[in-house]
Amino acid sequence: MSDINVLTSQDVYEIIFRIFDVIKENEKYLTDLDAAIGDADHGINMTRGFKLATERLKELNPSSDVGTIFNTVGMALLETVGGAAGPLYGMWFMNMAQVVMGKSELDKKTIAEILEAGLKGVQDIGGGTQPGEKTMVDAIYPALEELKKAAEDESVSLLEALRRAAEAAEKGMKATIPMIAKRGRASYLGERSRGHQDPGATSSYLIIKTFYDYLKEKTGQS
Ligand code: ADP
Ligand code: MG
Repeated sequence: MSDINVLTSQDVYEIIFRIFDVIKENEKYLTDLDAAIGDADHGINMTRGFKLATERLKELNPSSDVGTIFNTVGMALLETVGGAAGPLYGMWFMNMAQVVMGKSELDKKTIAEILEAGLKGVQDIGGGTQPGEKTMVDAIYPALEELKKAAEDESVSLLEALRRAAEAAEKGMKATIPMIAKRGRASYLGERSRGHQDPGATSSYLIIKTFYDYLKEKTGQS
């Protein structure tokens, strides 16, 4: 069973519900991180957004394509997350949707392509955000680099590709700790933003890791 090489729209649908659970479980953690360098709302914002996303998914036709699922999620996030993260997360999912409209299966290569489009959406809406500026980009960018490498390597399974992406996102998230924030609310703190993990990088890592955890369970590996 470990040779699953695509995520179907049904998988993606279930992954969104899991992301909601994971964000909800980490609501306090995310909000506490934001309390240190922001305004203590990131966990609350993200939970509200993914709650609406799952409610909207329940109204969708169960055979909807992946693009429609991502677009529905992106619009819900854009509408309800609020703050800086609303447009950022909204564009992440809406940009991914554009690449896979009408598709019902995502292989390794397509997953790298959607993440690339999603990251570009985040960077554009953020005002040209680059890695190293202590934001969610620091988690997404290294995950994408790993996915791109894995997409070119026939010997790497989809599960292993997602594992590497999640591991890279975790490293990227941790690497935000010593950084000085250059974007968003945390940037007002300048030097004082150093020594704290970025909340957006943390929620981005949790989202990427949920794709891996889901497939790991589906393939029966633990
Ligand atoms: P707000 O800062 O409006 O309260 P949140 O607390 O929900 O919004 O989200 C803060 C997160 O948004 C930050 O931790 C950071 O990762 C991300 N962020 C803020 N500004 C930018 C930007 N310009 N580019 C990329 N990410 C950003
Ligand atoms: Mg905040």
